[in-house]
Amino acid sequence: MTDSYLMNTYARMPVAFERGEGAWLFDEHGTRYLDAISGIAVCSLGHSDPVLAEAICDQARTLIHTANLGHIRLQERLAEALCELSGMDRAFITNTGAEAVECAFKIARKHGHSRNIETPRILVVEGAFHGRTLAAISASAPGKLQLGFTPLVDGFHRVPFGDADAAARALEADSSIVAVMLEPIQGEGGVRIPPDGYLTALRKACDRHGVLLMLDEIQAGMGRTGRWFAHQHEAESLPDVITVAKALGNGVPVAACVARGAAANVLTPGSHGTTFGGSPLACRVALTVIERMRELDICERAERQGQRLRDRLRDRLEGSKRVVEIRGRGLMIGVELVDDAADVRQYALDAGVLVNVTHERVVRLLPPLIISDEQARRIADTVAEAIDAGA
Ligand SMILES: *Cc1c(COP(=O)(O)O)cnc(C)c1O
Repeated sequence: MTDSYLMNTYARMPVAFERGEGAWLFDEHGTRYLDAISGIAVCSLGHSDPVLAEAICDQARTLIHTANLGHIRLQERLAEALCELSGMDRAFITNTGAEAVECAFKIARKHGHSRNIETPRILVVEGAFHGRTLAAISASAPGKLQLGFTPLVDGFHRVPFGDADAAARALEADSSIVAVMLEPIQGEGGVRIPPDGYLTALRKACDRHGVLLMLDEIQAGMGRTGRWFAHQHEAESLPDVITVAKALGNGVPVAACVARGAAANVLTPGSHGTTFGGSPLACRVALTVIERMRELDICERAERQGQRLRDRLRDRLEGSKRVVEIRGRGLMIGVELVDDAADVRQYALDAGVLVNVTHERVVRLLPPLIISDEQARRIADTVAEAIDAGA
């Protein structure tokens, strides 16, 4: 086997997975691994969920795709379910996170133009990650994402993450800013949690200036942090636009940009579209995921197991000189080290636990939200051992 026909875009772990079951993955030699990544916060229901598998098979036998030429009842139902969960009014259903983000940016710009702002700009934050399209990398943190891809998309202004005053000052100073876009908890940026009250303060500042608050909940949403959406941890922080993807399809590509009020009615026939987005198959999957998550009380589980995992990590790593901080909400957890964490990923892999490293020094844990007490303990113990081994 060779990967020499693949464009060389990933530094891959030396393993090839063939099969999954719940929180377990099996490689091509039959070795099993406890999955604490979930395909980057995607497989929140674990692998090969039988109810989801049955829904996929049934829908594949019924109708997979029609394009958005006629009405798609499953798409209408999914939009309603997402609006119900999020407090929004309308959804645009698409395929990937980056496309949901593009939709949000287009809503922001068109909203600006409708208010006679000629060059509408979007306020973004340091350390952001919004995906890999040109607009998304332009909105994301400068660095390797952007390197070699200039000219970038214009119209983004950046302030520090977690600093509501800096954002308010930017809105005050620049009346061409029409929207603020950020992750409620930064994922790729190192599992960074803003100070309490940050989102509420941003909401207030946006209201003062008639600016849209847009939250990228692609990684933190869908129960990951113990709420359907991460901003729901904070009072009075309801945004105007939310982007959702990753866990929405548990591995089948499906994403959404949901909006309320004026933002929900910006896009009109001809102004935006997608060939694949909102297919009967994708929507059946997402509807089934939401239903399964409800049945399994997924938010409560994420909260409980997240607490268990973090408590165990804190117990095991107390006094470790290698650890800067253990942080997280629900099952979105980061262990920041003083040094490069690559050895932790390898040690854990050898010990049969898959973990991820982001921002070089942060061990990121995003296990399926269905993990058992025993699995949560095993993840924490292996990570602690791996960190100690490299100290
Ligand atoms: C993963 C991610 C994206 C991009 O999603 P893709 O499906 O890879 O395009 C955007 N924003 C956030 C916060 C993400 O975590």
